[in-house]
Amino acid sequence: MADSLGASSPQDPPKAADSALLNSTWVNATAATATDAPSAAASAAALAFTDGPPEAVPLSPLLGLGVAELEAWAQEQGQPSFRGRQLHDWLYNRGARSLEAITVLPKAWRQRLRDLPVIQAGPGPSGQPPREESINPGESEPGRALLGRSRLLHRSDARDGTCKLLLATVDGLSIETVGIPSDDRLTVCVSSQVGCSMACRFCATGKGGLQRSLAVHEIVDQVLSVREAMGRRPSHVVFMGMGEPLLNSEAVLAAIDCLCRDLGMAQRQITVSTVGVPRTLPTLAERALDRLGRAQFTLAVSLHAPDQQLREELIPTAHAYPIEELLDDCRHYVAITGRRVSFEYVLLGSINDQPRHAEALAGLLRGFQSHVNLIPYNPIEEEEFQRPSPAAVEAFRTALARRHVAVSVRASRGLDQDAACGQLRRRLG
Ligand code: SAH
Repeated sequence: MADSLGASSPQDPPKAADSALLNSTWVNATAATATDAPSAAASAAALAFTDGPPEAVPLSPLLGLGVAELEAWAQEQGQPSFRGRQLHDWLYNRGARSLEAITVLPKAWRQRLRDLPVIQAGPGPSGQPPREESINPGESEPGRALLGRSRLLHRSDARDGTCKLLLATVDGLSIETVGIPSDDRLTVCVSSQVGCSMACRFCATGKGGLQRSLAVHEIVDQVLSVREAMGRRPSHVVFMGMGEPLLNSEAVLAAIDCLCRDLGMAQRQITVSTVGVPRTLPTLAERALDRLGRAQFTLAVSLHAPDQQLREELIPTAHAYPIEELLDDCRHYVAITGRRVSFEYVLLGSINDQPRHAEALAGLLRGFQSHVNLIPYNPIEEEEFQRPSPAAVEAFRTALARRHVAVSVRASRGLDQDAACGQLRRRLG
């Protein structure tokens, strides 16, 4: 595989996604209608066997499908099933970005496929079908939309090796994804939505609102794009980029399924971070058990305050979700999955980082099987919050540890390159 992991270079000026982003009318999507495997196969089947013109039924992107689904898809296309295995190998192991690159496939078939329309597959607001998008004329990587790959708009490398990518979707939106290397791991911080509707005050992504949720292939593509850009196989994935994963949980679970099944990752190396959406946590646990057979990924809940009042000041959407109810749902989640929950706590200088906050937090979490991750605030342009001093961070950590709360401090990575979530896209996208 090593030879297919060459580093890529930026291709187009970052401004390319601007107009689509601004013109997008897809706001406040709350439900996921992700591309699922049966529908991909079904649309392909309809394409192969209906009497109408082939372009009447667009294809779904292939990334996200497993080997059996790709075999079925190939057969529905009138090809032998081993073509599906070849597609699987080129999509996941070799990281093909275009049909042209998959030279083992018959040229005539590649040419036929690349001229067919593809469902753009980003879920719109509830009930709205996915938009259709023909392959862009002049596309430099023909068949890229059918494979489900994005286009690299911009790459930004920090001195500590952190690498941020700005990727363009087929419909011209931009997604931020980050590769965070250390000696023994490469963590990919993926986005689950374009923008975010949660509007947490200290978060850059929330400032622009939500454009739309991402489809399965758009999530998996981020991991492949980081692998390609950094020439190294990702070991961990955290859903801590743009968006609220629990407002797109079907696609998130399908992506986790694909990452484990097709890219060989372990569920335990995947973390899903949520700020909390009422009535979704127990459902997430049950759906994970249904869909994945077990729910072993880590759930990280963004708490950020030890009481409801302060939490609402920092997270306006929290008014609909009392902190006690959130913690009850977390207990319910632990009971269903048997996995302990992590809590994230962004430390904002003088706002929530005082000894009394640590004491209240320890009280709130008493008896809870959990781990607290402290995140010193990464400054964003739009807000006046202060990053706490290292001494304040250490005092907060010690105060929790002394009260028997399992706690760690997340090292800030890539501070010189728009470290805070959503900053690169706000500057460039
Ligand atoms: N919506 C989800 C996941 C995306 S944000 C959530 O809220 O958990 C991932 C984490 O980054 C969250 O804990 C979020 O609060 C944190 N974060 C956002 N902006 C930040 C900033 N400027 N500095 C530090 N952490 C930030």
